[in-house]
Amino acid sequence: MLTLLNKNEIKMKMKRIFFTSIFMMGCLVLKAQQRPNIILILSDDHAYQTIGAYGSTLMPTPGIDRIAKEGVLFKKAYVTNSICGPSRAVILTGKYSHKNGFRDNENSRFNGAQNSFIKELTRAGYLTAWIGKWHLETMPQGFSYWQIFPGQGSYYNPDFIMMDSSRKRFEGYSANVVEDEAEAWLNKRDTTKPFCLVIGQKNTHRTWFPDTCDLGRFDDKTFPLPANFYDNYNNRKAAAVQDMTIAKTMILDYDLKMYEGEIKIGTITRMNPAQRAKFDAYYQSIYKDFKKQNLTGKALTEWKYQRYMKDYLATAASLDRNIERTLNYLDKHGLAQNTIVIYMSDQGFYMGEHGWFDKRFMYEESFRTPMVMRYPGHIAPGSIDSNMVMNVDVGPTLLQAAGVPIPNDMQGQSFLSQVLNKKYKGRKALYYHYYENGEHLVSPHFGISTGRYKLIRFYKRVNSWELYDLQADPHEMNNVYGQKKYQRIQKKLRKQLKKVIEKYEDKEALKIVYENIH
Ligand code: CA
Repeated sequence: MLTLLNKNEIKMKMKRIFFTSIFMMGCLVLKAQQRPNIILILSDDHAYQTIGAYGSTLMPTPGIDRIAKEGVLFKKAYVTNSICGPSRAVILTGKYSHKNGFRDNENSRFNGAQNSFIKELTRAGYLTAWIGKWHLETMPQGFSYWQIFPGQGSYYNPDFIMMDSSRKRFEGYSANVVEDEAEAWLNKRDTTKPFCLVIGQKNTHRTWFPDTCDLGRFDDKTFPLPANFYDNYNNRKAAAVQDMTIAKTMILDYDLKMYEGEIKIGTITRMNPAQRAKFDAYYQSIYKDFKKQNLTGKALTEWKYQRYMKDYLATAASLDRNIERTLNYLDKHGLAQNTIVIYMSDQGFYMGEHGWFDKRFMYEESFRTPMVMRYPGHIAPGSIDSNMVMNVDVGPTLLQAAGVPIPNDMQGQSFLSQVLNKKYKGRKALYYHYYENGEHLVSPHFGISTGRYKLIRFYKRVNSWELYDLQADPHEMNNVYGQKKYQRIQKKLRKQLKKVIEKYEDKEALKIVYENIH
């Protein structure tokens, strides 16, 4: 009898344990489901001036536009240092370049031992992955998975460095391959855990190679020159000494594929025969026509501008199609509702404004970056956010959305409440610091923007101050520093600049900002 009772008791206990475990597992799964998944699509050198959601009529961008339509468009998203590697380091760490140590693309190597928003998510139970362009010199740390391009990566048949340090070549166009690999990782992931995936695209970085199916996509268009295409850089010392003009700096063969003789450029020699045949067929006829025209002076510069636009926009079309693919994947797998999607570039780009291509300057076209975000059920579709946000804020925002505490030493501030339409005290000013002092001869500089006014201090290559009234002069053609009319605002901005430098503990800038120059 006793034995029987014990057996029954044991049975009851077992049942209780069984149901309790099922209940707990259910809770865990529910918790995992409630925490949002995150996809951050990070492109390279993509200009907001070319995106439909930003009002551009240059080309259709249905992928990016869909995120904006179903979520929020950031009209005033900026970067702290407008160049590739440094911007990625800022996003990862939530800290300015002087704090995370990755100041420029020339001498910096990312210290992966430091904390990042990814590491915080991994510790909190997220699956974390970075697939595609990384460009931080050292190997990623703190991710569940990574698969990255060596350096800048290749537009065609890209190599990847895999987690075991092996190199693997993938056949195809880079943006398609990155999306394929991202989807392959999503397919095989542990679905009981939330994920954070960064899709790092090479597009639209120089030298603008589209997928073969996009070659010639915009050949029937003639693009209007920006109003300040023939800028004479009057009153702006740093702008006068740069080397990033379409007229002088853009190279006919390297950039615009007008090759004489045997082609030795890696991007082209690594194409497979089918890709190469399409490439040759397209550019050879353009080359023949170009030679016939024998252009010089302004006619040559404007021809270069048209070719630049056509190659760049075609490369952007190849990118946008893959953004649509990401969204379609989420739809197909029932993930759209509980996944935050952010699309952004590492910084903006010049599309002929001031006569330029490239980035680096604190002027609006490269200081700003496109950014759209979708969070179904949380962000109202079609929202437009006109508050100032920065790339340094992305990590803290995603941590807050995931319910993970934001480390005290992260310098960015979450904009989650702002986009959820809650009471939010946004930024009053933006602080910027660019360090590189080599390629394209852009002088190092730092500065502050309040949205209405912008004060910049150039140093090292040129020593000068610049002040812009963005309301009166949105294209930054008229440096009013030292003008009597702006004396009061100039004084106020210099004080405000010192204050933000102190706030972010930028010791190098602090030393320079007190120097008196004329
Ligand atoms: Ca870039």
